Amino acid sequence: MRRFLIAGNWKMNTTRQSGVALAGELAAVAANYDPAVEVLVCPPHPYLIPVAEKLGGSAVQIGAQDCYFQAPGAFTGEVAVEMLKDCGCRYVILGHSERRHVLGETDEIINRKTRAAISGGLHVILCVGELLSERQAGQTEEVLDRQMQGGLSGVTEAEAEHLVIAYEPVWAIGTGVTATPEQAESAHEHLRNWLASRYTPAFSERVRILYGGSVKADNAETLLGQANVDGALVGGASLKASTFVPIIEAACKLSTRT
Ligand code: PEP
Repeated sequence: MRRFLIAGNWKMNTTRQSGVALAGELAAVAANYDPAVEVLVCPPHPYLIPVAEKLGGSAVQIGAQDCYFQAPGAFTGEVAVEMLKDCGCRYVILGHSERRHVLGETDEIINRKTRAAISGGLHVILCVGELLSERQAGQTEEVLDRQMQGGLSGVTEAEAEHLVIAYEPVWAIGTGVTATPEQAESAHEHLRNWLASRYTPAFSERVRILYGGSVKADNAETLLGQANVDGALVGGASLKASTFVPIIEAACKLSTRT
C-alpha cells in the first residue's frame, strides 16, 4: 500500500515568524498521524533553516520549492541541491505550474533539475498538469505525456524510486475550482499507466501520485478516496494549521484502505 503524502507548498508566503509558528503547530500534532500519513512542508528558501529547527525531530518533513541543477558556483540567485540538503530538506518540488508558466521553465530545465536533485539525494515531487485551454481542446493526456517524457528523460527506474508525481491541473491551482474526483482519478490512472509502460507495472504501483489544485478540508476526503490519488499538494490551505490539519486528518481516516 502507498502511504499518503500531504505536502504543503507555502509558495512565496509567510514571514519567518509566522512560518516558524505554523511549523510549531504542525509539529505538535504530527505524531497523531504518523506513520499513517507522511506530512511535508515546503517553505520559502530563506525560512528553511528556522522552520527545520522548529520541526526538530517531529514527524513533519521539510522540502524546498525549487533548486538549481548545477553544483555550487557562479550562479547568482540560485540554490544548489547540496545546500538544500544541508538545510535539512528531504524533498524538492520541481516543475510547479508557476515555474513553468510564470517563470518560463521548460521540460528540459525541469529534467536537468530532476536528475540533479535525485542524484544529490533529494526526493522530487514532479508537478505536471494541463492549462484550461488544453483540457478544453481534449489535450490533457497529450500534455501529461509530454511533461512526463520531458521531465523524466534519462531517469532510470532506480532513480525514479525517489520520485513523487503531482497532478496539478493549472486551472485548479489557487482558483477555488477543484477537479472533480472523476477528473482527478482519470488523470492519475493515466499517469500510472504511463509509468507502467515507461518503467514497469510493479514500479508504477509503488509511485505516489498526489493531486493538487484547491484542495481544502471539505473536498480532501473525496479526492483522497480515489484509488490512484495518494496524497495532496496543497497551496493556500497549507498556510494555516486550521485548514491544513483537516486535510491530514482526511488522509489518516482513509489510510486503512486496501
Ligand atoms: C499549489 O500551489 O501547488 C496548489 C495546489 O495551490 P492551491 O492549493 O492553492 O490551489
